Amino acid sequence: MVVRLGPQTLAEQMIRLDDREAGLEGVIVIHSTALGPGAGGCRLWTYPAFADAAEDATRLARGMSYKNALAGLPFGGAKAVLRRPSGTFDRKALFRAFGRAVANLGGCYVTAEDVGTSVADMTEVATVTRYVAGLNAAPGRAGGDPSPWTAQGVFDAMAAAASLTLGSDLGELRIAIQGVGSVGADLCRRLSRSGARLFIADVDREACLRLARQCGATIVEPDHILGLDVDVVAPCALGGVLNERSVDGLRARVVCGAANNQLEKPEIARHLQDRNIAYVPDFVANAGGIISVAGEYMGEAESGVATRVALIGPRVTTILEESRNRQVSPAFVADRMAEEIIAGVDREAA
Ligand code: NAD
Repeated sequence: MVVRLGPQTLAEQMIRLDDREAGLEGVIVIHSTALGPGAGGCRLWTYPAFADAAEDATRLARGMSYKNALAGLPFGGAKAVLRRPSGTFDRKALFRAFGRAVANLGGCYVTAEDVGTSVADMTEVATVTRYVAGLNAAPGRAGGDPSPWTAQGVFDAMAAAASLTLGSDLGELRIAIQGVGSVGADLCRRLSRSGARLFIADVDREACLRLARQCGATIVEPDHILGLDVDVVAPCALGGVLNERSVDGLRARVVCGAANNQLEKPEIARHLQDRNIAYVPDFVANAGGIISVAGEYMGEAESGVATRVALIGPRVTTILEESRNRQVSPAFVADRMAEEIIAGVDREAA
């Protein structure tokens, strides 16, 4: 089944989930299975209406196709978005019902945790289907918390961008990190070990204080972090933080962070380019998490994950060099590279 979901968006399948008894209402969107089963997490969030959940899932599923393709994974892109029931609800019943829907797709969708869902939820899903990852890992095997792998990939991406753009090692730089949750805090610790001068902001003041003590970072008000006089800015909190206004206020020469969908709209990539700011596309920098989750699903050793994550830095160098040579934004280059991989184009032969 092919469902046209919007003016420019074509998805292979869109499956509406509706099991009121179990509290399940939402959607699975499979954007592409050209490279393998569609892989992407399951989000549980409050949406005003089904159409809002479907729109979010569609955008996120497409993003997963691009992220998985560029990360060299044998997976297509997909996403599940569930509407969070109001009031109290039976979480186990909801995720078992979701698991049955995943099972019914016979392996063309592989799920995992995402915003609003946890290892415990995926463990419930795993009671009814094997097409799930993001469970606890055995020692030496891929899996477990993906955040350290995401942080490692962002660190390597940032190092590559700083070297090419500023001719500097990270240890010589001033770096601002927006959001010090799982990924942001891990990234800070890595940067601190490399000797960088750190500035951090989070709406969770306690998280900032803890990390400042560990890393000697300076705490900044959340509203001021993006416009700080630093060399690198790392958005590691929310999506959509790069808009006309915030980009006008940037003083950093490099933007590289973990947050998904950092650009408020695609045209912002050009605006960053015009301001001579090297923006590392989020789905390139933050692929470490899905690499870990995919490695778990494929039953790989942890070393396989490390090998794939180590390719993120060199990939960033390639993208930024091509962006510079062709005078187009890094986001444009990364999108075209992903589209070529999905379409089976051999860049070496082309
Ligand atoms: P998290 O929830 O652990 O951390 C997010 C942090 O951002 C929290 O500490 C929160 O208080 C803070 N925050 C929220 N609003 C803020 C604001 N306005 N200003 C400053 N701080 C704010 O999430 P995470 O797992 O660290 O992920 C961070 C980002 O990276 C998210 O966008 C996530 O989608 C993305 N991402 C995460 C992974 C992963 O492996 N965890 C993988 C890929 C992408």
